[in-house]
Amino acid sequence: MPEALRLTGRGASPGRARGPAHVAAAVAPNGHGEVPTDRDVERLADAVNGTIDRLRVLAETADLQSGAILEFQIEMLRDPVIVRPSFARIRAGESASRAWVASMDEYVHGFEAAEDEHIRARSSDMLDIRNQVLDMLLGQVPADFPKGSVFVGRDIAPSQFLAHDWSAGGAIVLSGGSTASHVAMLARSRGVPMVVGLGEFGIEDGTRLFVDGEEGLVERDEGTLRLAANENAASIGAAASSPRGHAPPEPARTADGVLVRVMANIDHPAELRGLSPSACDGIGLFRTEYLMTSPGDFDDEDRQARYYSEVLAWAEGAPVTIRLFDFGGDKPLPRTSVDPASYLGLRGIRLLLARPDILRVQVRALMRAARIGNLQVLAPMVTSPDELAQTIEIFADEAEDLAMRGIAHGMPPLGIMLEVPAAALMPETFADAAFFSFGTNDLAQYLTAAARGEAAVSHLHDTSIAATMRFLSHTVPAALATGKPVGLCGDLATEPSLLPELLSFGFRAFSMPPARMALVRETLSRFNADGSEAGG
Ligand code: PEP
Ligand code: MG
Repeated sequence: MPEALRLTGRGASPGRARGPAHVAAAVAPNGHGEVPTDRDVERLADAVNGTIDRLRVLAETADLQSGAILEFQIEMLRDPVIVRPSFARIRAGESASRAWVASMDEYVHGFEAAEDEHIRARSSDMLDIRNQVLDMLLGQVPADFPKGSVFVGRDIAPSQFLAHDWSAGGAIVLSGGSTASHVAMLARSRGVPMVVGLGEFGIEDGTRLFVDGEEGLVERDEGTLRLAANENAASIGAAASSPRGHAPPEPARTADGVLVRVMANIDHPAELRGLSPSACDGIGLFRTEYLMTSPGDFDDEDRQARYYSEVLAWAEGAPVTIRLFDFGGDKPLPRTSVDPASYLGLRGIRLLLARPDILRVQVRALMRAARIGNLQVLAPMVTSPDELAQTIEIFADEAEDLAMRGIAHGMPPLGIMLEVPAAALMPETFADAAFFSFGTNDLAQYLTAAARGEAAVSHLHDTSIAATMRFLSHTVPAALATGKPVGLCGDLATEPSLLPELLSFGFRAFSMPPARMALVRETLSRFNADGSEAGG
């Protein structure tokens, strides 16, 4: 009888899947057998340029989110700071591949040793770049793995994720890795279950595995654990996608017939490809910060207006909530001196009000796009009514400016995230807010003083959920009492076991990654609006 196998790590992308393990080679290639030649500087330059060309070709056909990740790798490869140390090593007598590997390994280790999880998470991009250039130098073809299998390894490279066909399901199980890595972001948006941080373990190639990306659990698949149809990685994607031409799902209702809006969270318009607007009740949160991949993007009003218009056109009149840039904390403003690790300093609306040049461009782009559909705008990290008043003033100013220049525009309703405890406790003080959206990802971290994504404090997870639920039980009724629309767009909305209680607090609108919508709808249908179990 095979040995029992039960590993627990951190869930990086929800969903459950089963499949045979594909155990990746433990040691990344190092090119040490190579003999130096007098053409090594040229060979390395060719390999770097060849990799950039290959990434460009991939980026041209990739969706926009994947494209942004590939662009990040291209920028790194074009940065002289990255390649210069290798050339110095070659001039000192090392072969091209040996010099490249040694200097890149220093970068990888530097990233791995960083205290901030989000900087640590970039180490897999550096390792990916290292291995792609090395493959090019050694004339090797990057390895793929069988469709439908569970990738098992220390980490997985973004390029490997992007080159793999996930249509047959599968999952990712890592001894290292990070919930904040580019691959984790891709896995969440494509509905590929992923578990990270399992530590050292031994799994043989071909072992049949059951992976629960929600619970961070990996087990030998005994065939006894059944996946619900909407919990299989492959079918989650299909259920969420509901392609045009298929019958749209009925509006979500509780068992006693109360309508509940189930909306989609997106980080990029590319995530809407293959998703029908009739599969959801609109977009409850469009995080715009991920659209900005280089500093020049902030001034490009037309580029922003195009992205916003694309989402509004897709929605065919359904409400679309676009959030103002939420930089700071885990999402540093690219190339500025603002402390990237500051969750408590200039973040969200505070940063935007300190940098009105950035805010004003976004406001103009939003107001131009507002004519296309049913837009509402959401301000992140609002703490005081004064911040809302200043933001409203900037909208009014820019509307006047657009009108004077004869540029067609609309004035969208402006709501606020309730994700800072001070604001969530006093919703009635925000009389000018058009609506409220609770952000439980930030509420949880601010209630427990435990940074999100920080491995060292992840043991406080259960405490933070309990505290956030208690906090919501007091604050949601107060927000509803203002008579304004109230929703929830944090990750708590995707947790079936919490949905009944969230209903009982009074929530009737939830927004979540598209891959979770089918499961949430199905759960809602089994409970009454007061949170009691139907027929229970
Ligand atoms: C939240 O804080 O719950 C939220 C939805 O916003 P973000 O995760 O982008 O901070
Ligand atoms: Mg937030």
